[in-house]
Amino acid sequence: MSKNTDKGEEMRFEHDPKGPIAEFFAPIAGYGVTISSFFRKTVTEQYPREQARVQPRFHGRHQLNRYADGLEKCIGCELCAWACPADAIFVEAGANTPEGQYSPGERFGRVYQINYLRCIFCGLCMEACPTRALTMSNEFELAVYDRAADIYEKQDLLVPLKEGMLAAPHPMVEGLCDGDYYRGEVTGPTQTQIDWVKEHRPDDPTIASAEAAAKEARR
Ligand code: SF4
Ligand code: SF4
Repeated sequence: MSKNTDKGEEMRFEHDPKGPIAEFFAPIAGYGVTISSFFRKTVTEQYPREQARVQPRFHGRHQLNRYADGLEKCIGCELCAWACPADAIFVEAGANTPEGQYSPGERFGRVYQINYLRCIFCGLCMEACPTRALTMSNEFELAVYDRAADIYEKQDLLVPLKEGMLAAPHPMVEGLCDGDYYRGEVTGPTQTQIDWVKEHRPDDPTIASAEAAAKEARR
């Protein structure tokens, strides 16, 4: 440990002085890193020839999620838009009706836009969402040639229906309220929901897989 004689204070973070051998090799010591790297595995990413790896919690493009019966999780509350520091989100809610129930409860996200020219991928919108409707995927390839194409609409953000889900709109699971949906008590479409869709949209392509899933759940 050395002393700072000007200030007369102890310099607690100064390196110990080098010995004569270390002083002699000091000018070429920096090459040690370069030379040792010659023998290491190459770590250069080959993107875009190979898909780049990202960490599982990487903040990429947003997605709007669904419940297991196919209803949308977004209730149009606008909390994500209010939380956004970049004013990148625009939400307009619509009222659910008996003929047009898109999400549990009274309202759904009728218009949902994210402007990726503004978004800084901070994730505050995701934290603010009370229903976990909004999450962020690992997708990062968002470059476009047209500025307007960087404004994503609801249909661009809504996750596709998984096998066994029933396309909205349709009624909620009979006997359950929106709180039951939030508590994760919905595991798939019921026969009553499927029958409703059959009556109102007999050509809906999701009926067959929803019926198969409902039958499996009853076993
Ligand atoms: S990630 Fe951040 S900047 Fe982007 S929309 Fe969400 S809150 Fe706004
Ligand atoms: S995504 Fe979440 S926070 Fe945003 S409007 Fe929908 S429910 Fe509300």
